[in-house]
Amino acid sequence: MNKNSDPPPARVLIVDDTPHNLRLLSAMLNKQGYAVECVTDGGAAIKQIAVNPPDLVLLDILMPNMDGYEVCERLKASEQTSQIPVIFLSALGEVFDKIKAFEVGGIDYITKPFEIQEVLARVRTQLEIRGAHLEVEQMNLELERRVRERTRELADANQQLLHMASHDALTGLPNRVFFMERLMEALNRTQEERDRQFAVLFLDCDNFKIVNDSLGHLVGDRLMMAVAKRLKSCIIPNGFLARFEGDEFTILIDQIKDIDRAKQTAKKIHKALTKPFYITEEEIFINASIGIVLGTHDYDRPEDLLRDADTAMYQAKAKGKARYQVFDAGMHAQSLARLLLENDLRRALQRNEFILHYQPIVHLATNRIAGFEALVRWHHPTRGVVSPYEFIPATEETGLIVPLGQWIMEEACRQIRQWQEQCNGGKMPISIGVNLSVKQFCQHDLIEQIDNILARTGLDPSSLKLEITETALIENERAALEILQQFRDRKIQLGIDDFGTGYSSLSYLHNFPIDTLKIDRSFITRLTEQGKHTAIIQAIVSLAQNLGMTVIAEGVEIAEQVTKLKELGCEYGQGYFFSKPLAPEMAWRAIASQRR
Ligand code: C2E
Ligand code: CA
Ligand code: CA
Repeated sequence: MNKNSDPPPARVLIVDDTPHNLRLLSAMLNKQGYAVECVTDGGAAIKQIAVNPPDLVLLDILMPNMDGYEVCERLKASEQTSQIPVIFLSALGEVFDKIKAFEVGGIDYITKPFEIQEVLARVRTQLEIRGAHLEVEQMNLELERRVRERTRELADANQQLLHMASHDALTGLPNRVFFMERLMEALNRTQEERDRQFAVLFLDCDNFKIVNDSLGHLVGDRLMMAVAKRLKSCIIPNGFLARFEGDEFTILIDQIKDIDRAKQTAKKIHKALTKPFYITEEEIFINASIGIVLGTHDYDRPEDLLRDADTAMYQAKAKGKARYQVFDAGMHAQSLARLLLENDLRRALQRNEFILHYQPIVHLATNRIAGFEALVRWHHPTRGVVSPYEFIPATEETGLIVPLGQWIMEEACRQIRQWQEQCNGGKMPISIGVNLSVKQFCQHDLIEQIDNILARTGLDPSSLKLEITETALIENERAALEILQQFRDRKIQLGIDDFGTGYSSLSYLHNFPIDTLKIDRSFITRLTEQGKHTAIIQAIVSLAQNLGMTVIAEGVEIAEQVTKLKELGCEYGQGYFFSKPLAPEMAWRAIASQRR
């Protein structure tokens, strides 16, 4: 059928036992374009209408067997046909009960003899009304369908929103919000059943940030997904794993008898994470530090549980990575003290509470000062002078060592340059040793920072000696070589601090451009005891000489040690025997006195 064709003609059924009437009416309606069908008795009409419902019925009243009222009543009683409009046909003079006609459901009537115009007008009107009804009905149906559809879409969207609000988009794991809800529930249950227990594991990936920074966030994201997947495989049936934040995950293990279940999970995770990840061509190793806390009715708030799990996690990290640690109450006090220290340190940095002291490094043969080591001190407003042993580790962990280290480097370079100027306009060759912690050594813009500081202070690079530990070199072997080469290009000197305490292998010394070895104090202290240590120092000195390095003995406290060191061929010494680290004025006095 052609799409543009007119709608099919309206179908009219005429029910009349008088053939004349049928002929007359059908001719009339046919001419107007209606599709007309005729039947001559009530029973046939009902059947026909049920099989093929017309748009309108013209129904005679007086018929044998079944009269028009009954036919109409039956049509109205059936759901399929009740909506079809019925117009009664009645002859003038017939006994016609109009009230009954409407009661049984008739909608209009036409009296015989038929007036063409009247019949057509009434038929047209009723068909129009019927058409309008159908249209409304259709619209209602459509409306209902749309409402149903929208309702379903809304329900889907709600479901999706709910999922999004409670899950992490990257890994698909439950998120912090969801975890906290679960934790709350678990905690509430311990209030109801007093001997019920559960465990919370707080897991922080070790070195994830390094991967992210060095390989990019895309690799970082994929690695995160892979880590999440591996963690999932370690979760026991009543465990609940969530991505808490960044590279932190949390696990809730409900209903446990003792902490062993949690420890087992931690061990399982560590084992699973020992295998490398293959995201790029290179193998990536990621492990995690895990803090565990036992949840009992002693806890009131989920935050407290997490705080303790987090504290335990930090303890695990501090002990060396890829470990787990179960929380105990002593840790809380410790972490509180640590937090206070951190806050204090931040403030100290803003208020310039740090100063540098300078400890002379002495040429043993001539007893002259060859240089100084800069050692930082903290003038705490209430605690007085605080030793770097107490605060340097905290600044390293918090990253505060970066801004602090920059200040130290600049201040030390400025100071030594000033002293050089004061001695014959910079001709006096005194060097300054500046300590670089691992964190500082790993900064990607370290060399730029140093270049800038040297440019600002005007210090000759060869007067600067950076002191780093073996650990810093070995842990970043590949990067270290490149950085050290850049130092060498600028003639900046490099000294290995605390030499002898780190790696027993000396082979790495050949690989790095190193100028100085500072023999650790522990060897010097025991130098006076005969035997082993003498041999070690002897070995270090001859190794250094072979490699063209100089040796400084640290922690020289007594004359006897000086004598021994000289015998062993050690060139330089540093320690209380010569001088303690000195405030700047005192250090200048020491320099000035030896010029005389
Ligand atoms: P270090 O680099 O090994 O510094 C030598 C430490 O030994 C200094 O302690 C110094 O005062 C001390 N010392 C010197 N001679 C003797 C001696 O004859 N006997 C004894 N018993 N000790 C002696 P200090 O100044 O307390 O520094 C401790 C550590 O803190 C340093 O060890 C270094 O690792 C770190 N540190 C100090 N200043 C800085 C700094 O400016 N930056 C960085 N990154 N670390 C620093
Ligand atoms: Ca040092
Ligand atoms: Ca040292």
